[in-house]
Amino acid sequence: MDISKVIRDVPDFPKPGILFKDITPVMEDPAAYAAAIDGLQGLLAGVAFDSFAAIESRGFIFGGPLALRMNLPMSLVRKKGKLPAATREVTYALEYGTATIEAHLDSFKPGQRVIIVDDLLATGGTAAATAQLVREAGAVVAGFLFLVELEFLPGRAALAPLGPVFSLVKYD
Ligand code: AMP
Repeated sequence: MDISKVIRDVPDFPKPGILFKDITPVMEDPAAYAAAIDGLQGLLAGVAFDSFAAIESRGFIFGGPLALRMNLPMSLVRKKGKLPAATREVTYALEYGTATIEAHLDSFKPGQRVIIVDDLLATGGTAAATAQLVREAGAVVAGFLFLVELEFLPGRAALAPLGPVFSLVKYD
């Protein structure tokens, strides 16, 4: 199963010049979705960790099945204003402006080893901000896990100082 053939290119979304990697066909093909979860789990073989931090919203699609299958906790990292209990937040730079993400204060425990999961690594800004949330709680970034990596962008270079980077499908 070649998952790269199932991921769809959508040119000029969400704005002109961006080639959007659309993962929705992966979940619409049970064999591809299963292969994605199998492959992501395989990347973590030999990595010592205690939990997943899944990034809104497409990180949930991969974090959930992995956490359930591996019998590990999954915590949600969400855009500001979505989580109901007390939170810690981090604001980070976007191409234009800023974004703020949050996690519940009790999601990450001191010393806990956390795998940060999202669908796609582009610049790494969202994942780096998530790493900051994990570290501010006293937890440890055990690694970053992505279904897709855009190798022509500097995401891996941005994240490598913060923890090991794993991705299943790479586009150069
Ligand atoms: P970044 O913080 O730049 O690494 O952006 C990562 C987030 O933006 C991920 O959650 C992706 O879902 C989304 N994203 C960025 N660029 C693309 C792209 N070309 N195709 C699909 N999703 C993208």
